[in-house]
Amino acid sequence: MKKALAITLEKLEGFEKPKIKLEQYVTPPSLAAEIVVNAKLIGDLNFVVDLGCGTGILAIASCLLNAKAIGIDVDLDALKIAKRNAAEFGVSGKVDFIVCDVKKFVLKLKSEKSLTTIMNPPFGIQRRHADRPFLIKAMEISNVIYTMHSAGSEKFVKKMCDENDFKITHLWKYKIPLKKTYSFHEKEFKYIAIEVYRLMRLD
Ligand code: SAH
Repeated sequence: MKKALAITLEKLEGFEKPKIKLEQYVTPPSLAAEIVVNAKLIGDLNFVVDLGCGTGILAIASCLLNAKAIGIDVDLDALKIAKRNAAEFGVSGKVDFIVCDVKKFVLKLKSEKSLTTIMNPPFGIQRRHADRPFLIKAMEISNVIYTMHSAGSEKFVKKMCDENDFKITHLWKYKIPLKKTYSFHEKEFKYIAIEVYRLMRLD
């Protein structure tokens, strides 16, 4: 299931002109597939919010596994591509994309649903802890969170959990190939160590 999904996701269109200030990098398709398949197996993939969705890979991957999704991003250019991608993959009816700063996002749902946030927020390489407002919003709106961070984020994530009555239930570590996206990258691609967390609200 993972392999087939990853191959499908390879066909998604990425950022046209990635904006460095917004730390725009596409999640590698194999990792996106890995995360949503894990979420599906754990039973978390019903209604998904993708904060900082960019060109939509995580939201669309979730829809391909039968979830409904909302993608939020501050960058309209990225969302135009996300919408095209959703149409291309036949999931336009399952996903809404909303242009909004994550800090200002207010979730309006008709009924109380079990909601999962799946996100690859800016890592805060350009701006330290740029991922903080993403975690805060995710903890405000959802009971389960899948979130991606640079290696060595455990202390930070644990502290955020302690402050907001969440706990870390899973921590997966990966090395992902980062394609040359910006001119200051010297090599065509290099491997970077990242961490994916599953967080859950304490009851
Ligand atoms: N989730 C996508 C993109 C990751 S890059 C993927 O996995 O491929 C991080 C994304 O966060 C970018 O699309 C960027 O535009 C968005 N972003 C950065 N700051 C933001 C903010 N304050 N509010 C909403 N989105 C933001």
